[in-house]
Amino acid sequence: MHSTRQDLYQKGSACVWDVVVVGAGPAGSAAALSALQQCPNARVLLLDRHDFPRDKSCGDGIAPHAVDELVRLRVEAVLADRVPIWRLTLHSPAGIRVSRLMRRPDHVVPREVFDARLVDEAVRRGAVLARHTVRRLSVHPDHVALDGEIAGRVVIGADGATSVTRRMIGLSRQPAPCTAVAVRGYTAAPPGKPEQLIVLAGEDWPAYAWSFADGLGGANVGFGMLLPTLRAQPAGGRAVLHGRLAALLPDVRPERLVSHHLPLSTSRPRQPNGRVLIAGDAMSLINPLTGEGIYYALASGRLAGRAAVGGLGDPGAAYRTALRRELGRHLRHTTALARVTSRPGVVDAGVAAAARSRPVFDALVEVGLGRGLVTRPLAVAMVREIVRCPATLGR
Ligand SMILES: Cc1cc2nc3c(=O)[nH]c(=O)nc-3n(C[C@H](O)[C@H](O)[C@H](O)COP(=O)(O)OP(=O)(O)OC[C@H]3O[C@@H](n4cnc5c(N)ncnc54)[C@H](O)[C@@H]3O)c2cc1C
Repeated sequence: MHSTRQDLYQKGSACVWDVVVVGAGPAGSAAALSALQQCPNARVLLLDRHDFPRDKSCGDGIAPHAVDELVRLRVEAVLADRVPIWRLTLHSPAGIRVSRLMRRPDHVVPREVFDARLVDEAVRRGAVLARHTVRRLSVHPDHVALDGEIAGRVVIGADGATSVTRRMIGLSRQPAPCTAVAVRGYTAAPPGKPEQLIVLAGEDWPAYAWSFADGLGGANVGFGMLLPTLRAQPAGGRAVLHGRLAALLPDVRPERLVSHHLPLSTSRPRQPNGRVLIAGDAMSLINPLTGEGIYYALASGRLAGRAAVGGLGDPGAAYRTALRRELGRHLRHTTALARVTSRPGVVDAGVAAAARSRPVFDALVEVGLGRGLVTRPLAVAMVREIVRCPATLGR
C-alpha cells in the first residue's frame, strides 16, 4: 500500500505535489479524499509516521454527523459491516440518570480498522501514501518544503494533538487548561442491548468514564479529565486515570489501555493565510463537552482538501472562511456551554432536563456529538431545573 522511500523521493524531487497531507488519521484521509473529489487529477501525497493499520487511543465513537461526512466523501461503505448503536445512557455527577434512544445512531469502530479503511479509500482514489515523519517545514513563495526533501503547493497539517506543522508555522501550543487527557481500553461488552454509557464523575469535574459497546460483543471503555487536574493529583497520571476508570466502571477489566491528549476547541488557533492549512486535532477541534473529535476532523479535513485545490485565491483564507461558516457558531456555543457547565450542578440540571424531555435530550446530543446550538428551549429547560432545585447551583 505504501510507496517506497525511493519512489517517494524520486517523485518528490521530480515534482511539486499539488497537496501534501501530513498525518493519515480521519482529518488527513478526509483532506486527501476531498482534494481528489474536487480535482481527480490532483497529485496528492499522504504522509504518516506509522504504517497502517495502526492503533489510536480513542473511544471509537463515530457520531451521526461524522457519518454525514463519510457520505459527502462517498466512503460510507467503511461502516457497512458495523452495528448501529441507538441507546445513550448518561449518569450525572449527582447520579441522575437518563437513558434514551438517539434520533440517529452512533457506530463504534476501532480506530485500527476505521482509519486504515479511510486510508485505503484515499489510496484507491489516487493518493500516494508514504511512511515519513515530518520534522521541519519551510514556506516559500510558490511551495512549502518538508524536511528539505518533499515539496507541495499546499500542505495540510493533520498531524494530531502534538502537531509539528502547527508549531512550525508559529501557531501557539495548546494551553494546559484547555487540554484533556484520557485513557482507553477494550473489554467484553456488558450483558444486555448494546449502548453508549457515560458516567460523569462527581470528583474533579469535568471528568467522565465511558463504555461504548460495539454491538459485536466488545466494548471500548475509558476515562478522561482535564490536564491541570490530573497534574495536581499526588499519584502519577497513569495510576490516576486507571484508578478512576476502575472506580467509575467497577465491573470491567480492560486490556490495551493507552492514553492520549485531547486539545479542546475552547482554545483553538486562528488559521493564517498562506499555503499551510491545519485540520482536526492539530487545529484543537475537539468538543469540550464530550471529547468528540472525529466529526470535526472529517469536516475540517474535507474543507481543507477543497480549499487546497479550489483555486479560490489564498488557500488559508479560503479554508478559514469555510471552517467558520461550517462550525463557527457551534464552536462558540460549545465554548459558552463548557464555561457554564464547569459547575457540576449545572450538568445535573441538564441531565435532569433531558430525563424529563425528549427534545432537550436530542438538543444536548446535537451539541455534544454534532454541530448543534444551545437553543432557547434547551437553555430554558436547564434554568427551570435549576429553579426547581436551586441547591444544584451551589455544587
Ligand atoms: C481516549 C480518547 C477517546 C476519544 N474518544 C472519541 C470518540 O469516541 N469519538 C470521537 O469522535 N472522538 C474521540 N476522541 C478524539 C479523536 O480521537 C480525535 O479527535 C481524532 O483522532 C482526530 O483525528 P485527526 O486525524 O485530527 O488526528 P489523529 O487521529 O491523531 O491522526 C493524526 C495522524 O498524524 C500522524 N502524525 C503525527 N505526527 C506526525 C508527523 N510529524 N509526521 C507524519 N505523521 C504524523 C499520526 O501518526 C496519526 O496517524 C477521543 C480521543 C481520546 C484521546
